[in-house]
Amino acid sequence: MESLIIWGAAIGAGILIILIYLRNTNTGYNEAGGAKKEAVRLGADRAIAQHPQIDALACIACGSCIAACPEGDVLGMVQGKATVINGLKCVGHGKCAEACPVGALTVGLGDISGRDDLPKMDIHHQTNLPGVFIAGELGGLALIRNAINQGSEIVDFIAAGQPLPKGDGVFDILIAGAGPAGMSAALKAREKGLSCLVIDQESTGGTILQYPRKKLVMTRPVEIPLFGTLTKPEYSKEELLDLWLNLEDKFRIEVRKKEKLTGLGKSGEAYEVTTDKGMYRAGNIILALGRRGSPRKLGVPGEDLSKVMYKLLDASLHQNEHVMVVGGGDSAIEAAIGLARQKGNHVTLSYRKDQFFRIKKMNQQRLDEQIQTDKIKVIYNSEPVLIGEDFVDLSMTGGTQRLPNNFVYVFAGGEPPFALLRSIGIQFN
Ligand SMILES: Cc1cc2nc3c(=O)[nH]c(=O)nc-3n(C[C@H](O)[C@H](O)[C@H](O)COP(=O)(O)OP(=O)(O)OC[C@H]3O[C@@H](n4cnc5c(N)ncnc54)[C@H](O)[C@@H]3O)c2cc1C
Repeated sequence: MESLIIWGAAIGAGILIILIYLRNTNTGYNEAGGAKKEAVRLGADRAIAQHPQIDALACIACGSCIAACPEGDVLGMVQGKATVINGLKCVGHGKCAEACPVGALTVGLGDISGRDDLPKMDIHHQTNLPGVFIAGELGGLALIRNAINQGSEIVDFIAAGQPLPKGDGVFDILIAGAGPAGMSAALKAREKGLSCLVIDQESTGGTILQYPRKKLVMTRPVEIPLFGTLTKPEYSKEELLDLWLNLEDKFRIEVRKKEKLTGLGKSGEAYEVTTDKGMYRAGNIILALGRRGSPRKLGVPGEDLSKVMYKLLDASLHQNEHVMVVGGGDSAIEAAIGLARQKGNHVTLSYRKDQFFRIKKMNQQRLDEQIQTDKIKVIYNSEPVLIGEDFVDLSMTGGTQRLPNNFVYVFAGGEPPFALLRSIGIQFN
């Protein structure tokens, strides 16, 4: 009798454990499975650089990789297996691989044979165009450390190679992009005594400039030319930006800001670089453009005013203001909600379609709350047609209306630099 009770209790406990496991994996399936579908719809599931490769047979569904990811919701559990949900958010830290207790996860580019977004390069990062190199994340590998190393290695290779074309006004190297890869290349060029010019459509710092305020940036030790080793495991966004700006100033690196590369051709032995502001000649070109792309513009008069922005870094800087957010995706909704939570703001959300149909459920709920309490006014079927110092003319059903306005945030997606690369003759995988 006693052994019967023990057996019964053991079987009961076993069934309970199985039920709890099934409930957990089903919940995970429902939540992360939905998130995955949403990410696929938004095109946010595809990683742009190195990302987790999961061996589903080896995965024991412990969730350690999900908990270890510093960027949040890159990974999720779908049908009891770790799965990449928001690949776009992966920056390649590799913490997930370190955390996996059974080695079921590696971080890399995976099978690149089908990747038509990776430019062809040799081991020196030289493209099919001799003297044109690709440094940093544009080549497929993310992380500040990789970008710094590649920028510096490329200049070492250039300096050790063929004599560079010389001539009046011909730079040894023209670098497009002043992120970690471009700046490291420029410092190395200064160290090697090569003449060099950097252009950037934005400013020094690259993607770091786009990080949220006070974001902690993780990096492993890396040698910055003319500076020494970055030794701390974590830096704030602001610390890193200060570092690049100080180096630019100290070593007199010429960075032409707000200047965009638009074309490249050959003239004699040198390359002829076209930008939206002029033309330069250089013996070698380093493309360090990153992969995040340029924000898509509205193309309306007044868009060049400094009050028009494409990324919200700090909502708390806006109080008692009329702010317009343009767009219908999650980024637009999240920005509008963040702005509406600040004291005294009047937030208008302008969207050109008649409903939001691709946003996260949580964002829809939060937005509904803000609409009900009059914190956000949504105007569907509308588009800004003119932006002035203190107003926006919005075309909407029934005509055009002028709204008071202090700031405009535009979230109309991005244009990756691949079309530009193809247009200048760079081949892809
Ligand atoms: C949210 C987020 C968090 C991250 N966190 C970390 C982290 O903690 N640790 C880490 O190591 N990495 C992190 N990364 C990744 C890291 O920022 C990038 O891998 C790194 O900045 C790549 O450097 P890069 O120089 O190759 O390109 P970028 O930094 O992207 O710089 C490219 C530059 O090129 C310019 N440009 C683009 N097109 C043109 C053009 N046509 N003409 C002129 N200029 C142009 C851009 O304006 C930009 O300044 C993070 C990325 C993101 C998005």
